[in-house]
Amino acid sequence: MTTLQDCRALDAQDPLRELRTLFTLPPGVIYLDGNSLGVMPAAAPARVAAAVTQEWGDGLIRSWNSAGWFTLPQRLGDKIAQLVGARPGEVVATDSTSINLYKVLSAALSIAAQDAPQRKVIVSERSNFPTDLYIAEALCQERGYQLQLLEPEGVTAALTPDVAVLMLTHVNYRTGAMHDMAAVTAAAHEAGVLMVWDLAHSAGAVPVDLNGAGADFSIGCGYKYLNGGPGAPAFVWVHPRHADRFWQPLAGWWGHAAPFEFTPGYRPATGISRYLCGTQPILSMTALECGLDTLLAAAPLGGMAALRAKSLALTDLFMALVEARCGGHGLALVTPRDAARRGSQVCLSRQTGAYAIIQALIARGVIGDFRAGDPPGPANGTPPMPDILRFGFTPLYLGFEDVWNAVEHLREVLDTGEWQRPEFNQKHAVT
Ligand SMILES: *Cc1c(COP(=O)(O)O)cnc(C)c1O
Repeated sequence: MTTLQDCRALDAQDPLRELRTLFTLPPGVIYLDGNSLGVMPAAAPARVAAAVTQEWGDGLIRSWNSAGWFTLPQRLGDKIAQLVGARPGEVVATDSTSINLYKVLSAALSIAAQDAPQRKVIVSERSNFPTDLYIAEALCQERGYQLQLLEPEGVTAALTPDVAVLMLTHVNYRTGAMHDMAAVTAAAHEAGVLMVWDLAHSAGAVPVDLNGAGADFSIGCGYKYLNGGPGAPAFVWVHPRHADRFWQPLAGWWGHAAPFEFTPGYRPATGISRYLCGTQPILSMTALECGLDTLLAAAPLGGMAALRAKSLALTDLFMALVEARCGGHGLALVTPRDAARRGSQVCLSRQTGAYAIIQALIARGVIGDFRAGDPPGPANGTPPMPDILRFGFTPLYLGFEDVWNAVEHLREVLDTGEWQRPEFNQKHAVT
């Protein structure tokens, strides 16, 4: 069995270990929540301060040109493109994941309505992140479609001739299970269905090849594995074969072909720029660029493939240590063990106490998070999923000794019953 000494040896040999210096982590914290909010890049405070004092304070309105503010969505988009298998000019950083999903889903429905008007169904996964389902539900109401929700194994079999769009999140936020993007996209196209991928838990976490898979639309999140800061802008990618076919519904002036002509009629920009809407949050964009640069700094060290190899080694170690050292406490592994079928997080379920165990860990400086299980009752034949303890692993700033220490804290919290203390059993507004 792996020992603490083994973990230290693994850290000493780790070619990516120097990347940790690109981040500012509070002392004493083992951060296992980069899947929810990435750690602050060390460069961010000075970069954002310069954007405030020099670009805004001194440059004022001139900075739209002189500091390159106006082209930030495209410039950051080109950096994101390198992480998701897209080409330069195919991605923009903008708005939130929810808003970008509304845009691409609407465009996908417009394309389907023209090519195959009898198709009136959007298929997704029952356990998809709720905002994705809410946005789809709203669009279905608006445009007379139906949303059909299935278990992950059942989605491709459900692609009947009435289905217009398959909308999936590549890595499930609760279980960490990952779809085979190429195979699912191929199955969708075989069935005449357009494919929308949400990369919220994939971009910066696992290698992604949107063009290789031939996907149709994709969106993703800036503040999770991309380390862009709280509320960082998200991103949107549309395959070039679709980019110019329809207006997206939020046809604001930043998506206009010539916004500074101030003409009354809308004329969409060509390509992905038409997926912009209005004026961007420049300070947030500035912080997002610092986050993207931490990932691009891994490129000379092997890039996403090297990050993925380390992420799998970290998550394998975590699963093995939890099994060996935290047995008999009712924890069950929810994340698939097969490396090809999981992202960069490990989720454990427990019938009771999951929330309090996470709170007790946080009090010890081990920050993971809690996600509520399914409501009780026979929802759809499958038994409801219990509450979940979720641990995200970011190879940019985590090492093997961190994994060892995190499991030791978990073991102590369970062995001593520390989690049962009343202060760990009070729910906060944000879990
Ligand atoms: C995190 C996440 C979001 C977040 O959406 P926001 O618009 O940023 O609040 C959306 N979808 C999925 C799948 C996510 O994991």
